[in-house]
Amino acid sequence: MSVAVDPMIDKRLLVTGAAGFIGANFCHHWLRKRPRTTLVALDALTYAGNRHNLEGLGQHAGFRFVQGDINDAPLVERLMTDHQLNVVVHFAAESHVDRSIHDPDAFIQTNILGTHNLLRVAKSLWLDGPQGRIPHRFHHISTDEVYGTLGPQDPPFREETPYAPNSPYAASKAGSDHLVRAYQHTYGLSTTTSNCSNNYGPYHFPEKLIPLIIVNILHNQPLPLYGDGRQIRDWLYVEDHCRGIAAILDQGREGESYNIGGCNEWANIDIVLLIGQIMDELFASDPRWLQAYPQSAAAQGRNSADLIQHVRDRPGHDRRYAIDATKITRELGFQPAVDFPAGIRQTCLLYTS
Ligand code: NAD
Repeated sequence: MSVAVDPMIDKRLLVTGAAGFIGANFCHHWLRKRPRTTLVALDALTYAGNRHNLEGLGQHAGFRFVQGDINDAPLVERLMTDHQLNVVVHFAAESHVDRSIHDPDAFIQTNILGTHNLLRVAKSLWLDGPQGRIPHRFHHISTDEVYGTLGPQDPPFREETPYAPNSPYAASKAGSDHLVRAYQHTYGLSTTTSNCSNNYGPYHFPEKLIPLIIVNILHNQPLPLYGDGRQIRDWLYVEDHCRGIAAILDQGREGESYNIGGCNEWANIDIVLLIGQIMDELFASDPRWLQAYPQSAAAQGRNSADLIQHVRDRPGHDRRYAIDATKITRELGFQPAVDFPAGIRQTCLLYTS
């Protein structure tokens, strides 16, 4: 079967890590905008993946979900050949920094070896097949954590900022970024990479800060904050990230990296206070919350922020991340659309039962 279609015109996607937080949001975003596209969603369904995150997408004739591992080369090759896929959008990863500190092996296996497996299969089908080179694009999703940490006065990360990953997670993502770059430079694979700041929004697994705080407020559990809680991150609503990725898939230049961020730096403690305030307001304004979560501090007339508990800091905890998104704004016209307090409120509302 021929796979010689131009991905700039007719994109036929393999989305890895599609049942995770950002992957699922991306599949919904993409098929909402382009309902007729072929999109094969591949996910191993680790603890972080949830098939229900993709609910509703079966209505699209071109959508398929496949449970499988990105390390399974015959499976990846079969999917790409059978469905004539010409674009990989690679989200699959072990993504939680704390887990990488306690057990880095899975991070090396998935983030480095898994990415290499995808690159190898892509090269064999798109560059080395009987038709020679055919039009394609491999987009790799990475993180701002590869750049290391910033001091309070340092300028935000640019695409040229040297890599200085500090956690096993960040190092494994940096390794995968380098492999993507090398496959472009050495073999001519058509790649792009995006390095994004922290995301929040629907389908976020509750081991991460924002959903954890919301869930713990609802269940009257302590709100754990590492150290002094003054670690700063640049936050972006996940739908904005998906729009940025779509812009890169449409117009991104081969071999380029694009930083995606919200120009929205917040200290962890200020985020927890903001969520506490919004949750208290929601409890005060809507009796459904009181009925559903009578045990919560807010339902009992106390402030949610009273639950804050400072815990021992994570080893090697990066102090500040910030993204300079000038390149994607200038080249592709990307701008975040969702204001942070509004996005957080929207996220809290997802938990109304
Ligand atoms: P996530 O942990 O929510 O989802 C990862 C998904 O990958 C899960 O569904 C999991 O089942 C799947 N997966 C893991 N190993 C796999 C394997 N071997 N084969 C197939 N599937 C596998 O992660 P996320 O937050 O959605 O992050 C997605 C990507 O975005 C990651 O590459 C991450 O590094 C990057 N990123 C995340 C953020 C963020 O704030 N969450 C920010 C910047 C970049």
